[in-house]
Amino acid sequence: MAETILVIAEQRQGQLNRQSWETLVAGQQLAAARGARLAIAIPGKDVSALASEFAAKKPDEVWRVEHGLLERYTSDGYAAALEQLVKQLQPALVLFPHTYQVRDFAPKLAASLGKGMIGDCIAYRHENGRLVFVRQMFQGKTAADVTFAGAPPWFASFQAGAFRADQVARGASPAPITAIAVDLKPEQIRTKPLELFREAKQAVDLTQAPILVSIGRGIKAPENIPLAEKLAKLLGGELAASRPICDEGWLPMDRQIGSSGQTVAPKLYLALGISGAIQHVVGMKGARTIVAINKDANAPIFEVADYGIVGDIFELIPALTEELEKK
Ligand SMILES: Cc1cc2nc3c(=O)[nH]c(=O)nc-3n(C[C@H](O)[C@H](O)[C@H](O)COP(=O)(O)OP(=O)(O)OC[C@H]3O[C@@H](n4cnc5c(N)ncnc54)[C@H](O)[C@@H]3O)c2cc1C
Repeated sequence: MAETILVIAEQRQGQLNRQSWETLVAGQQLAAARGARLAIAIPGKDVSALASEFAAKKPDEVWRVEHGLLERYTSDGYAAALEQLVKQLQPALVLFPHTYQVRDFAPKLAASLGKGMIGDCIAYRHENGRLVFVRQMFQGKTAADVTFAGAPPWFASFQAGAFRADQVARGASPAPITAIAVDLKPEQIRTKPLELFREAKQAVDLTQAPILVSIGRGIKAPENIPLAEKLAKLLGGELAASRPICDEGWLPMDRQIGSSGQTVAPKLYLALGISGAIQHVVGMKGARTIVAINKDANAPIFEVADYGIVGDIFELIPALTEELEKK
């Protein structure tokens, strides 16, 4: 019988996140390459609507992992419930989106089954029939090939942006949805979730902007931000930033790009005085064209840039602005 690849989707208050779709794309591609069955599981309290959404996306089966104790996320609850599903399905591979929640419970789940986990992968490939995962190391300065030792199930999570959510395949007819009868007791859950933080209302939705002019610490002082703002306006784009700019309060948090900010995929991303730390790059590497200006020729941002200019932003921003004003 063909092996099973199990994708664990993540929902919060009935909303799926984009990374779940990206992980599903990884699962679809892996299942096609390995001739495997594809199963999707959604933990929560009542996930029937989300299960139907997934059933249309060409899996072989969808699993509702439901229990009253899974209404609010806890690592104990999720790990215990999914352990039961993994034992029942016996998948070869269990895939997750590499979210904060997954970082919290997935290693515990893998360990409870005596298995390891490869976290935060950016790609996979098959080498002589062996599945190899690629993950970044040393702040993205190098990449390592990692593979599993021992028998399956194997556990792996994918970094945001590693796969494109818009490449998700649809099936001709919906896949069957099954509910697993999860056995959970209140005493198994050792943490008590409090109210979720209410996210601040966003003034601007950078995910929809086709052009982003993004500034980093190279901008040096808040008095210099209008330079970039003017350029963004002339290009018909929005202003974005790396984390230190928002931490300093020079721009609001909703303009921060990266692992703890927004993930964007504009047509053009202009990175001005941004070094290209991995936590920033995961939020913008999906841009169609990346142009970077940095005075350090060795800045890691040049590794993801389509066009790189080694130079001083205080010379180049005014020069670009002047040219655009002539148009
Ligand atoms: C848990 C965690 C989460 C994080 N989340 C995020 C996140 O969501 N987003 C994010 O951005 N960061 C995040 N970070 C921080 C991240 O690690 C980096 O510290 C940050 O991205 C660096 O910002 P920067 O590139 O603006 O600054 P720096 O690393 O200081 O780089 C400034 C760059 O500007 C260049 N420069 C200086 N002057 C000029 C000039 N005149 N002309 C041209 N170039 C110039 C320099 O050569 C340098 O490359 C996170 C870190 C952690 C630990």
